[in-house]
Amino acid sequence: MIDLDFDRQHLWHPYTSMQNPLPVYPVVGARGVHLQLEDGRTLVDGMASWWSVIHGYRHPVIDAAITDQLGRMAHVMFGGLTHDPAVQLAQRLVQWTPPGLEQVFLCDSGSVSVEVAIKQALQYWISLGRPRKVRLATPRRGYHGDTFAAMSVCDPVTGMHHLFSGALQPQYFVAAPATPFGQACVPQELDELRQLLASRHEEIAAVILEPIVQGAGRMYFYSADYLRGVRALCDEYDVLLIADEIATGFGRSGKLFACEHAGISPDILCLGKALTGGYLTLAATLCTRRVSAAISRAGGVFMHGPTFMGNPLACAAAVASIDLLLQSPWQASIAAIESQLRVELQPCAALPGVREVRVLGAIGVVELAQPVDMAAAQRFFVERGVWLRPFGRLLYLMPPYIITAPELRALTSAIYAFARTTAAH
Ligand SMILES: *Cc1c(COP(=O)(O)O)cnc(C)c1O
Repeated sequence: MIDLDFDRQHLWHPYTSMQNPLPVYPVVGARGVHLQLEDGRTLVDGMASWWSVIHGYRHPVIDAAITDQLGRMAHVMFGGLTHDPAVQLAQRLVQWTPPGLEQVFLCDSGSVSVEVAIKQALQYWISLGRPRKVRLATPRRGYHGDTFAAMSVCDPVTGMHHLFSGALQPQYFVAAPATPFGQACVPQELDELRQLLASRHEEIAAVILEPIVQGAGRMYFYSADYLRGVRALCDEYDVLLIADEIATGFGRSGKLFACEHAGISPDILCLGKALTGGYLTLAATLCTRRVSAAISRAGGVFMHGPTFMGNPLACAAAVASIDLLLQSPWQASIAAIESQLRVELQPCAALPGVREVRVLGAIGVVELAQPVDMAAAQRFFVERGVWLRPFGRLLYLMPPYIITAPELRALTSAIYAFARTTAAH
């Protein structure tokens, strides 16, 4: 038996109180889209363990890739050494990410890849003799991770700015994108950013944003015109563009990378979450030759080097996961998930407590008028045999791509049932 009492007394879980923690459910195994609880119940997983487990749990190909690599070496330092899994992974990332991104920095987690991206942007301008360009501009309602530089560009209200206000680098925020995906956005939507860059570009190193999908802050899908407009303004005012595709990368939005919806390339790209198929922690920051060449000018070196940089097990998992994805009919799978989500979540829109239903790729969102009671919601879902973890006013799902129609139906009907009960209160 898992010692839940010890867990409660001694283990932090994400965003929890140690005094009054929310209940946690003990898991003993997972396979395909199912989580197995200690008490024998199985749950259909609607979260893909926070966007990451795109091929499902215990995929034989990724399992074998890791076991194989384990037989060679689990880890070796990346300073002064290199290995095939890292090279294989970098080849795939250079080939498949948007054009121009050619230099790959491997690191431990999404938040660290954002730190690396910010550091690269700052070092780029320092190398070019413009050391005043140290600030970032970003749309409100974004989420970029929990480390300090990442926190400084998270939404100033829903992020942790109030808590750490004395310690965070102040950044420039502009209004969040407001035109939904699929619609043309009016040029005025970019006025605030244009004015900011016009007056402050001398001190702004980069704009950072989540392309097309504002994820953890909001679960909102915005117009590709907005993203194209930001790219153009960055070029006009000599400011770098950092695209944080940690959540959207590897097919989730219906394109391999969300930047493709707008046909743009950023100067710096962050990847994480689904990179290893959800097996091991790994992230990557890619940049263009222009960025790397400037940093490396006159003997310059990029000042970052995590202990577990390029971990071979994680790289082997990532190579296997990317190959699996590209060899699968992923566009068709995601299109099928998308259309099923549209059909089956749409009825929620008619419920009184529901503000909006949104679907893009393999992401479904039901936004309620009121925040949900997380503990009660989780109990409700577990009793119905599904795993969903709402936050705030958002019920959402982003299942593994291998989910079948009946399994997805179990998730959408549980969401409808929950939305209906909350509306009745
Ligand atoms: C999850 C996430 C991060 C942080 O990644 P971690 O691996 O949790 O550090 C950063 N940016 C976006 C867009 C994310 O969704």
